[in-house]
Amino acid sequence: MPKSISKLRIATYKRQQGRCFYCGLPMWLKNADELTAEYGVKASTVVGLQCTAEHLVARQDGGANAADNIVAACKTCNGRRHRKAVPLSPENHRRRVRARILGGKWHPQALVQLLHDRAP
Ligand SMILES: [Zn+2]
Repeated sequence: MPKSISKLRIATYKRQQGRCFYCGLPMWLKNADELTAEYGVKASTVVGLQCTAEHLVARQDGGANAADNIVAACKTCNGRRHRKAVPLSPENHRRRVRARILGGKWHPQALVQLLHDRAP
């Protein structure tokens, strides 16, 4: 029986130790409080770090709702990948995200700094 997308999201979140496949920042699953409590930031600051199930091959291109086609990605990284008419490949999107983070042009820089400083 195929797994539901929400079960796949939770399973990949755990497999990735709660970190986004693209940006590497911690994500929250059910409630932003999961991060606000730990990092002392406002819920509005981490709204873009909600965990989503990202299809490596998009459903419209024939990608399946299957474990080998799903990664956990934050809402920001997932949404921005699919803003382009033709999304970048997962590898190229990840490279782009990492480069933009280094340039302070992805998540708010203060958040990136805070989360990296407290990374386990
Ligand atoms: Zn991300």
